Amino acid sequence: MTAGLDRDRILEALDALTLPDGTPLGRSGRVAGLSVEGGRISLAIQTSADQAAGLEPLRAEAEAHLRALPGVARVLVVLTADAAPPPAKAPPKLTPGAAGKKPDPLAGVGHVIAVASGKGGVGKSTTAVNLALALRAQGLKVGVLDADIYGPSLPTLLGLHGRPAAGPGRKLKPMQAHGLAAMSMGLLVDPETAMVWRGPMVMSAITQMMADVDWGALDVLVVDMPPGTGDAQLALAQGTRLAGAVIVSTPQDLSLIDARRGITMFRKVDVPILGLVENMSHFICPDCGGRHAIFGQGGAEAEAARLGVPFLGAVPLTMELRAASDSGRPLLVRDPEGPVAQVFDKIAGRLRAGLQQRAAPNAARAPR
Ligand code: ADP
Repeated sequence: MTAGLDRDRILEALDALTLPDGTPLGRSGRVAGLSVEGGRISLAIQTSADQAAGLEPLRAEAEAHLRALPGVARVLVVLTADAAPPPAKAPPKLTPGAAGKKPDPLAGVGHVIAVASGKGGVGKSTTAVNLALALRAQGLKVGVLDADIYGPSLPTLLGLHGRPAAGPGRKLKPMQAHGLAAMSMGLLVDPETAMVWRGPMVMSAITQMMADVDWGALDVLVVDMPPGTGDAQLALAQGTRLAGAVIVSTPQDLSLIDARRGITMFRKVDVPILGLVENMSHFICPDCGGRHAIFGQGGAEAEAARLGVPFLGAVPLTMELRAASDSGRPLLVRDPEGPVAQVFDKIAGRLRAGLQQRAAPNAARAPR
């Protein structure tokens, strides 16, 4: 963290701005999700849906004000409009020197990994789930968080039903499926409601889902990101303590262009790219067992080399993978020794090797 730049300093700075009722912003209890990392600040101002538009000038002012502080590289301030007005909270204590002491909701998680794609439908969720299962098969404790708010597919992929139970401290307990701890936006919010949310609300919902779930001790949390490279994705990439990102692409040219966009987005916010997975790489014919490179061969691997990112592996297009996804029993559960499981085992191995190389800050918890 940059010297002199800490939570309290930021809240103090925000006290120079006032809410319409005259309350200094920093101590109003409306500042949520404040994160300060290496000169990057992100926070949300809590409001209600009907007041949100009126607070937009304050939001912009807060961004400009914080950006002017010494040592600040990037600032993201969002308005989060909850259905109900925010509860009144005690003013935050301004203790000098209590820099960054906010408890990290993911403190027990060794590595948070984003699985992302430049566009939808390339098999990002399928990859996220099977990668999580491959990591677990290697003996790690793994969680999977479905942050794909516009099309949450984890409940279908893992066969999750019902609502998550609340545990102590009002935290939600993740559901358990096939040995994974799992949570999905689809279990909490009606996807049709989420469709109309704007970027900041998406970010706030996802941040809350991370903070309000008792993930416990995990080696890896795999986050299935919303597809695309818009504001919500950027905010999520910036606002989450990510160890790195895995980009999923199909071999078609168009999809690779989207993958490139994804890589650029993560680089912009200094999130390391752990590698590229080529999905639907080739077709395995269920009748003859033959391998057909429908979209050509080696495109994604060459593209990965060109972009300077590791190539993690090529997942075939198979009927089994497709059928397993719809059944709630992923292919790695149905056929843990099969050819697709072996592909994911290699991908997981390469991912762990990449993580270990970069693991300095979390060395104690690096996957073994
Ligand atoms: P995304 O998360 O990128 O939108 P999904 O993982 O939901 O994509 O996959 C989209 C569809 O393609 C799903 O029906 C899924 O079962 C299917 N699918 C994904 N990868 C494969 C594959 N390698 N072989 C066969 N079907 C696949």
